[in-house]
Amino acid sequence: MDFTVSEKMQTILGMIKEFVQKELIPLEPEFLTKSFSEMIPVLEEKRQMVRQMELWAPLHPREYGGMGLNLMESALVFEALGGTPLGLYTFGSQAPDAGNIEILHQFGTEEQKQKYLRPLIEGKIRSCFSMTEVDLPGSNPIMLDTTAVKDGDDYVINGHKWYTSAADGAEIAIVMAVTSPDAGPYLQASMIIVPTDTPGFNLVRNIPVMGHAGEGYFSHAEILYQNCRVPRKNLLGPEGHGFVIAQERLGPGRIHHCMRWIGICNRAFDLMCARARDRIIAPDRKLATKQIIQSWIAECAADIQAARLMVLHAAWMIETVGKKEARKEISLIKFVVANTMQKVIDRALQVHGGLGMTDDTILAFFYRHERAARIYDGADEVHKVSVARRILKEYEGRKVR
Ligand SMILES: Cc1cc2nc3c(=O)[nH]c(=O)nc-3n(C[C@H](O)[C@H](O)[C@H](O)COP(=O)(O)OP(=O)(O)OC[C@H]3O[C@@H](n4cnc5c(N)ncnc54)[C@H](O)[C@@H]3O)c2cc1C
Repeated sequence: MDFTVSEKMQTILGMIKEFVQKELIPLEPEFLTKSFSEMIPVLEEKRQMVRQMELWAPLHPREYGGMGLNLMESALVFEALGGTPLGLYTFGSQAPDAGNIEILHQFGTEEQKQKYLRPLIEGKIRSCFSMTEVDLPGSNPIMLDTTAVKDGDDYVINGHKWYTSAADGAEIAIVMAVTSPDAGPYLQASMIIVPTDTPGFNLVRNIPVMGHAGEGYFSHAEILYQNCRVPRKNLLGPEGHGFVIAQERLGPGRIHHCMRWIGICNRAFDLMCARARDRIIAPDRKLATKQIIQSWIAECAADIQAARLMVLHAAWMIETVGKKEARKEISLIKFVVANTMQKVIDRALQVHGGLGMTDDTILAFFYRHERAARIYDGADEVHKVSVARRILKEYEGRKVR
């Protein structure tokens, strides 16, 4: 595995890091006290600057105005942008749009691409992904109550979803619904594009998460689909292939999540070290002189380095042997990096004492919002069970001395 970063990528990463430091981190105090809609004008201004620097949509296809970076390259970009909650959004790379863009590009009809993919990549509209249901386990997504029943040229959708992230203000939802109840368990559901102004698409509320309901892009909605009627041409990919398509977006999506989390680790680590260096805890002593703090710093540095190398290795595996062969590595990074991030944020917050609990630094925001990393996109336990099963299979019939 080659860790050399090309000259082109070094230049790009240097520009991104400088932009994050100069333009985005100074906006954080405002971001932490204002609503998303109040932030839109300034964020649009920053997005325009990013477009002018030709750094817009790094991971999306060139033919639609993105930079078309490969997986390893975009992983490094996600790390550089992850250190601020404003990074990915400002560079047109935010979830869930990034995943939706990927599947629209791969499975969308020409009409769907022109109508939805192009404006999504251009950052003119936003989207959301609506799969998890209130009454059924998201960990076992083949259990779905939401149905899409054919009626003439339409599908009529009924169901109760929640945690549809960024639905508030989104133009379209990609909804997972059962279209073929008699098929095998993995071929029952389809993905259907639902414009959010369709009658019957009812956004009940933005769910309060750790005390904050959020707004716009930074929110998670509960949605009732009540006789929500969309044309059959809004089917994304073949009917019954919802899970096949979902599988497609999982590998690269996890690399992106994990590298964003590494970016958060780096930021929290920087804050922790700087605070330890500066905080006076006795007339002649700084916090950094305490061995316990030094031990945390060393442990966090090692954990971040290990997690980062695991993600880059998984990305390299996907690129060299493919997603299917890299399934173990993809599951491993999902729970390792989520837990590393949680530990690093917690330690950084602890080093800040009372200040860490306030919104005067970004740490409390990370602490609140990133706890979910151990739940979404496959809870820790689900990945651990899946990895263990895979490993144990390798031992079947194998003699070990
Ligand atoms: C912040 C956030 C954003 C999200 N965004 C989206 C989104 O945009 N779109 C969307 O569709 N969904 C989204 N989700 C939903 C997310 O995918 C689900 O919460 C997740 O799949 C877990 O499902 P659940 O909440 O129903 O928990 P359950 O499935 O009820 O699981 C609860 C717990 O049980 C344990 N568990 C479950 N299965 C097993 C197992 N096989 N073995 C051992 N233990 C197990 C785990 O500890 C798990 O945390 C989001 C969730 C969060 C928190």
